[in-house]
Amino acid sequence: MKNSIYDTIIIGGSYAGLSAGLALARFRRSVLIIDDGNPCNKNSKESHNFVAHDGESSSSIIKTVKSQLLQYETVHFLQDTVGEARALPNYCTVVLRNGKLVYGKKLLLACGIQDLLPPINGFGACWGISIIDCPYCHGYEFRNKKAVILGPAKKAKKIAALLKPLHTEIALIEPSPALKQEEETNISDDLQVNNTYNAINSIQHKNGMVHAILFHNGESKPADLIYAPRPFKLSGDLHAQLGCKETKHGYIRVNKKQQTSVRHVYACGDNSNLLRSISSAVYSGTKAGMMINSTLAVESHHK
Ligand SMILES: Cc1cc2nc3c(=O)[nH]c(=O)nc-3n(C[C@H](O)[C@H](O)[C@H](O)COP(=O)(O)OP(=O)(O)OC[C@H]3O[C@@H](n4cnc5c(N)ncnc54)[C@H](O)[C@@H]3O)c2cc1C
Repeated sequence: MKNSIYDTIIIGGSYAGLSAGLALARFRRSVLIIDDGNPCNKNSKESHNFVAHDGESSSSIIKTVKSQLLQYETVHFLQDTVGEARALPNYCTVVLRNGKLVYGKKLLLACGIQDLLPPINGFGACWGISIIDCPYCHGYEFRNKKAVILGPAKKAKKIAALLKPLHTEIALIEPSPALKQEEETNISDDLQVNNTYNAINSIQHKNGMVHAILFHNGESKPADLIYAPRPFKLSGDLHAQLGCKETKHGYIRVNKKQQTSVRHVYACGDNSNLLRSISSAVYSGTKAGMMINSTLAVESHHK
């Protein structure tokens, strides 16, 4: 084993990774947090549904957390991208952009997930601003505005029922290239839901604020907010390089201790959480930090 070895290397320095770092720092564990500054919510100007920070910008929350964490003398932060990672019988290694190898007794993957956006003109510019996937995060700010749910009808109808307290009129659009017949969907007596199937040409917007959806047949649909549940993939391929098993939903499989199927490797945050939110990422990150710390304590006791 190398002389210069961190107790834990954390890849991903956003909500999950920083929370784990804090728990470890408070036990004077040496921690290297590596982050390349690309969190999934970077487009959103405000974060919601996170106690004590409702309405604050995500970057300002992260800035505060980082500055508090860096007060601990055993914490090191590196702005870099990890391209390679290995788990060996007694320690882990990661390779930085410049080819430098770093060693850690434990490795924590807090790299998040990537939303797969459709190639529709204007969609990316509005993502996280007025096209969203989570009504808990950004629905309330658009209450009583014209909402459209974009997605497979079955899922969209469930979302429409959930949105009833926020919007009185909701349109469902299945972005299928085949133009099908318009149909009415009966979600409840007092909620009007129009279910149309149409091929979308582009999203009309100003600075990310949607005002209409333009279809290939020339028609358009006015909208203020679009709910668009998106498929995702795990960020990068470090989990695959390490051989971490995935769940049937495509997350990194972890046990109650946030440990993956690979020895010494842990995961936390969106990459291993079905319930996507800042508070879930903070919870699982804190748990990972505490579990790694107690494992390190047991392992050093047995040496
Ligand atoms: C548009 C949008 C808006 C949202 N709004 C809210 C909200 O208002 N309230 C709420 O509760 N939740 C919100 N969420 C969900 C919330 O943002 C996530 O649950 C949370 O950010 C997950 O934290 P995380 O640390 O797991 O991942 P992320 O925040 O995505 O951070 C992952 C970090 O890992 C880094 N990284 C990845 N791979 C590497 C690598 N190989 N090397 C170095 N660094 C790497 C990335 O740069 C990134 O900084 C929103 C999500 C989206 C997509």
